[in-house]
Amino acid sequence: MTTSQTVNKQSMYETVLKQFNKTADIINLHSNIRKILGITNNEIIVHFPVKMDDGKVEVFTGYRVQHNNALGPYKGGLRYHPTVDVDAAKALAMWMTWKTSLAGLPYGGAKGGIQIDPRNYSDAELERITRRFTYALGENIGPEHDIPAPDVNTNAQTMAWIADTYMSTISSSERSQNQHVVTGKPVGSGGLEGRDRATGFGVYLTIKELIKSKGENLKGKTFIVQGFGNVGYWASKFLTEDGAKLIAVQDAHATLYNENGIAVEELSQHSSPRKGSIKGFSSANEIDPESFFGLECDILIPAALGNQITDDNAYMIQAPIVAEGANGPTTSEGEKILLEKGVTIIPDILCNSGGVIGSYFEWLQNRNGELWELDEVMNKLEKKILQVFKKVQTEVNDSQTDWRTAAYVIAISRIETAYNQRGIFP
Ligand code: NAD
Repeated sequence: MTTSQTVNKQSMYETVLKQFNKTADIINLHSNIRKILGITNNEIIVHFPVKMDDGKVEVFTGYRVQHNNALGPYKGGLRYHPTVDVDAAKALAMWMTWKTSLAGLPYGGAKGGIQIDPRNYSDAELERITRRFTYALGENIGPEHDIPAPDVNTNAQTMAWIADTYMSTISSSERSQNQHVVTGKPVGSGGLEGRDRATGFGVYLTIKELIKSKGENLKGKTFIVQGFGNVGYWASKFLTEDGAKLIAVQDAHATLYNENGIAVEELSQHSSPRKGSIKGFSSANEIDPESFFGLECDILIPAALGNQITDDNAYMIQAPIVAEGANGPTTSEGEKILLEKGVTIIPDILCNSGGVIGSYFEWLQNRNGELWELDEVMNKLEKKILQVFKKVQTEVNDSQTDWRTAAYVIAISRIETAYNQRGIFP
């Protein structure tokens, strides 16, 4: 068990509020809009019973927090993890609002999940838990209202169960048109070609562009990744294919190091059958988890949970670039130390926005009854991510500020404009 598993949930919410208030001061956000955006619209908590394989019944607690929908339907992932609770979901929902706004998408922000460790349940139990959670959420989700997606410990299969349950419990006349109640589905069930790699691709692309702007390229650059799930794996794959070298990986079970490089595909093949654990991989040495953040490298990618880079470990970080694949991996105190050291942080709402952009494409594909091909998706994704990257880069240069502040200024200003234009009902 790594020490970083001790996640301070309360301060994740504090982090997002600090970031928001800082930006609100910078842009002189109107006090009315400040009040609205400083709080979450809806916090839904459901308790629901599920029959276990041994015949006993367990009652689970699920959450869905909807922060703001000024720009469009709520959008955000569902996470299955022991740290899921209302505060964590509130923080993550707010980050989604900023992220969708920054990307120029017609969405608001939401997040949710179930407080469980899925490793303790069989696949059949996970299916029943997911279906019953969907049923309990009822009309709180919907293709034009709130659209969940995969997050930590949920995947395309989870989304397929949700879509099937949702469509099975609404009126038969609406059934066929509601596949887009979730995104991140398997390709055979309305999913988008390339959605699986969209987030990792965005992480890779934003790192590549940042390095390009310094007149360098990825060849020979070393990187380390915390989290080897969907985001960590795909980001590592794209980066190594472009000449960078993965020298260390940390997941919830082990920390691996090999200065000569870790083969991404081999590690993935090793970890997949072990419920995603990298432990026991023979082509790298297992090292002390405490030493991970201090390893010498060119790029550090936190791609696991929130609040991993704090004032306890930020001083150790040697990487000049931190690319936030995860949501909220850096606390405000951790960030202050990094910025003082001259580290460039590619903030989560930019760095991992490829995921929600891919989700938007899937939603459009389903809504319009179309089927897009992989090349088409990757080209559109690249174009959109680069547009967002350039927007933030321009703000960084114009205002001589850090990347997170620049991204927040753009994101929150867009929502302010929407409120100014439409007013407050009634
Ligand atoms: P995942 O479940 O596929 O993988 C999570 C990884 O993190 C696993 O390797 C797990 O072992 C590791 N991990 C968990 N606890 C850890 C700990 N304490 N220390 C080190 N490693 C730990 O999840 P994912 O979909 O890859 O999501 C990872 C992060 O990226 C999350 O913060 C998520 O919110 C964010 N994100 C995901 C997407 C997406 O499309 N999946 C999109 C945007 C952002």
